[in-house]
Amino acid sequence: MARIIAVANQKGGVGKTTTAVNLAAALAAGRRKILLVDFDPQGNATMASGIDKREVRPNGCDVLLDEAAIAEAIIPTEAGYDLLPGNGDLTAAELKLMDAMARESRLKEHLAAVADRYQLIIIDCPPSLHLLTLNALTAADSLLIPVQCEYFALEGLSSLLDTVKAVRQRLNPALAIEGLLRTMYDVRNNLGNEVSAQLTQHFGDQVLRSIIPRNVRLAEAPSHGQPIHLYDRNSRGAIAYMALATELTRRDRQRKQDAGAASTAA
Ligand code: ADP
Ligand code: MG
Repeated sequence: MARIIAVANQKGGVGKTTTAVNLAAALAAGRRKILLVDFDPQGNATMASGIDKREVRPNGCDVLLDEAAIAEAIIPTEAGYDLLPGNGDLTAAELKLMDAMARESRLKEHLAAVADRYQLIIIDCPPSLHLLTLNALTAADSLLIPVQCEYFALEGLSSLLDTVKAVRQRLNPALAIEGLLRTMYDVRNNLGNEVSAQLTQHFGDQVLRSIIPRNVRLAEAPSHGQPIHLYDRNSRGAIAYMALATELTRRDRQRKQDAGAASTAA
């Protein structure tokens, strides 16, 4: 069964989509079976995967509204991962779901139908904490939080973590924090270094070791419809996302070993 990671932060422009796409691609390059779910009405992850968001039917909206089976909507991408495409239709789906029963667990139910085909499912969330993000957090085993190390970064995190608490209480008790990922990092920026130090102070080893540098190649790749390792595999951005994939894989293996040891001890 696939592990499910939601990439979320209600702040826009912190690197959620860049992280979701390039992590999916890095893991797929390592021969893992990956599904990327574009759950943002902006459809950026779809476009960045080389798929035209205007032409995808059925898409995530049709699936959420039970109008298509998820397996029919999933398409393969050039980088080797599968994509559940998203676009502006997701906004309509979110509105229509407002009055639906079990509206927060729609995505979870649909993903269950394909979970045995993948090792990992990555969900790219919109910049809000509304129903689409709640669906992602309800479906997910863990939450990966990209953080841009700037002045208001910590402030936004507390409301995100309040939401995580509420989701654990009512919808998904097992939701874990996969980690906080520092993105668009520039070592020459003093404020960035300061905020990064504060993050480590507050969150300890929940802050991932991998750091994504500010790298223009990462910003260029989406307009070519390619993840970074297809666009420029030797760039600092590509190397950083490869390192992130390795770190997350290693942490997952460690967690499984720890769980195994704990159950043997019990
Ligand atoms: P979000 O999904 O959180 O809104 P994006 O991943 O779309 O954020 O990133 C916002 C913008 O910053 C995009 O134009 C993206 O190409 C650019 N960007 C993201 N990460 C980096 C990086 N490490 N270096 C340079 N540009 C980046
Ligand atoms: Mg985005």
